[in-house]
Amino acid sequence: MAVELFELVANLDAILQPARFKDYSPNGLQVEGRARVARLVTGVTACQALLEAAIAERADAVLVHHGYFWRGENPCLTGIKRRRIALLLEHDISLLAYHLPLDEHPSLGNNAQLAQQLGIPVVSQRYEGDGSCPVMEGQLPTAVAGHAFAAHLARVLGRKPMHIAAEREIRRLAWCTGGGQGFIEHAIELGVDAYISGEVSEQTVHIARENAIHFFAAGHHATERYGVQALGEHLAKILPLEHRFLDIENPA
Ligand SMILES: [Zn+2]
Repeated sequence: MAVELFELVANLDAILQPARFKDYSPNGLQVEGRARVARLVTGVTACQALLEAAIAERADAVLVHHGYFWRGENPCLTGIKRRRIALLLEHDISLLAYHLPLDEHPSLGNNAQLAQQLGIPVVSQRYEGDGSCPVMEGQLPTAVAGHAFAAHLARVLGRKPMHIAAEREIRRLAWCTGGGQGFIEHAIELGVDAYISGEVSEQTVHIARENAIHFFAAGHHATERYGVQALGEHLAKILPLEHRFLDIENPA
């Protein structure tokens, strides 16, 4: 039971349509390994620990949300980049990475999957192809207090969020996983009661307070664990391969 690597990539491209996105890193096959894939490992970031765990799992390919070759970074293969890529090449393992297309996919994406984890019915998805406004919006069946929603986030994600509290109850929410705190202004334009992202910046706190909306920084890793996992499970249903998601703990 195995799939050709090119067929796996073709399926991923058909699902995620990376050509629609102007991204900060190349989407698709970033490092080419062996021609056939029987075992696929997924993870959030292609860090050394994930690669070592994938080798222990005898993976043929690793699929991640955060791959390599980011815009503006030093392109030379030195330091941790050399060690990571050397490990992949030495073990003939492919690295596949999808960034914005995996945030935005309407059912398998990080934003959609976070909504599913949290039980928030989605109302709309605002998306511009260049990643300038990747905010999803939802509405709870009944309004809840801010502290109750913070407790819900902590329970579901296994991590206490930073909560910048406001007076109002929460019914309408917007969110963008990962480092999406800068999109809080889009959430304010939507008129929601709360905005959720992974990370926080100094100014996010002021923007939330001065617009009197709740803000939750629920963890970059914690909010982006679910997309790649759902994608791996989907691939295992439609292609002859085994899939395993490996969670490399990250408190950020
Ligand atoms: Zn991210």
